[in-house]
Amino acid sequence: MKLICIGRNYTDHIKELENEKPTDPVVFLKPDTAILLKKQPFFIPDFSEDVHHEVEVLVKINKVGKHIAKKFAHKYYDEIGLGIDFTARDLQAKLKEKGLPWEKAKAFDGAAVVGNWMSKSNIDNVNNISFSLEKNGEVVQTGNTSHMLWKIDELIEYISKYFTLKIGDIIFTGTPAGVGRVNAEDKLVGFIENKQMFSITVK
Ligand code: ZN
Repeated sequence: MKLICIGRNYTDHIKELENEKPTDPVVFLKPDTAILLKKQPFFIPDFSEDVHHEVEVLVKINKVGKHIAKKFAHKYYDEIGLGIDFTARDLQAKLKEKGLPWEKAKAFDGAAVVGNWMSKSNIDNVNNISFSLEKNGEVVQTGNTSHMLWKIDELIEYISKYFTLKIGDIIFTGTPAGVGRVNAEDKLVGFIENKQMFSITVK
């Protein structure tokens, strides 16, 4: 399986990193080895001094598809989750400066937190999901999927032009503002509405 990640999908986060608003979604992949194993702490890698949390709504693909039209996209997922796209911001900045791919900064072991899943049938509207991240008990990121530049079904249409989507693939739909550095002993807890979706410790 693969993790398909979307960058710059919330205008407030684009402003925060002083990036230009894209005309197409920014897409990158993480391998399955990037998934942080359940109940394991996240270890800050020794090649970075500035790893950031990016809390993101996740979509789990339940059917094989390619060239999926937006109007049929809703048939390709029935579970929504929450996760973190950990990013070695210092390394990413160096790579971006040189025009090089981001993988070393985003696809390293443990860089993808995949929390619990909830059935889409328990969600009124996937385009109006509130979510948040707490760091050491303090809310550091809040978002709502209504603020996405490309909504979930549009992302599925776009991504599936390039990659065949397979059962179990996970889409990371982008982060809202509030990204920030993590330090050893931090505790990160993610919520959809008031429901806890993951809790991890940083080492
Ligand atoms: Zn991200």
